[in-house]
Amino acid sequence: MLIDEVAGNVTELVEKLNFAEKVDRSLDLIDRAYKEFGDQLVLAHSLGKDSSAIWHLAKRVSSKIRGFIVTTRFKPAETKQFMKEEVARYPELKIFSNDEGIPEKLYATDPDKCCEILKVQPVRQAVKEMGVACWITGLRCTEGRTRTNYKEVEELDKGLIKLNPVLIWYEREIWQYLALNDVNINPLYNKGYRSLGCEPCTKIAQGVDERAGRWIGTSKCGGECGIHTRPLLNYNI
Ligand code: SF4
Repeated sequence: MLIDEVAGNVTELVEKLNFAEKVDRSLDLIDRAYKEFGDQLVLAHSLGKDSSAIWHLAKRVSSKIRGFIVTTRFKPAETKQFMKEEVARYPELKIFSNDEGIPEKLYATDPDKCCEILKVQPVRQAVKEMGVACWITGLRCTEGRTRTNYKEVEELDKGLIKLNPVLIWYEREIWQYLALNDVNINPLYNKGYRSLGCEPCTKIAQGVDERAGRWIGTSKCGGECGIHTRPLLNYNI
């Protein structure tokens, strides 16, 4: 089983492997996961650059690999437009959202709750409805302070494997891959964003931390929406 076979010091691999070796490693990880999980291998597409790269990698392994997109009422117009284009091109990408009523400006008063309702819940729904046994994510360990402890293959939820095939890639290498393969990307990157999210919680930011523009002014600054930290299978709301 993939979870038992993939080893290696993630921090060492970031430095040790060159770009081409990382691409090969990512393709191999997705290929092995596809052989093990088949149709139950599903990719989470956030419409950001890392997701565009893993989606392209996955399509090289098999055009049949499915994906899901979680959208919210607060996504920028550019992201919504990009989502429409991606879904038109790849009908195997399914959209999930939660349209239930929430208090006004919950993103300002309780961003954790807002993300739980608008982002984490639809991921749980996607996992359930699509019969996911292994999900592919675009997590990278060099992306920010909250992303240093992940593994390439992990089982944070018992019964749900998570594959992070570009975990050891640098931001530069993602851009290198997208440019070399002429991959369509979210147009917001043209405006200077480095990490994309909902409109009220995302700013253009400079500096070392790629996610520094997320949730500025809250305790969540540079942090996580919860889909990588909250339980997806066995949870209490
Ligand atoms: S990113 Fe902001 S607006 Fe979007 S779900 Fe989270 S708190 Fe709410």
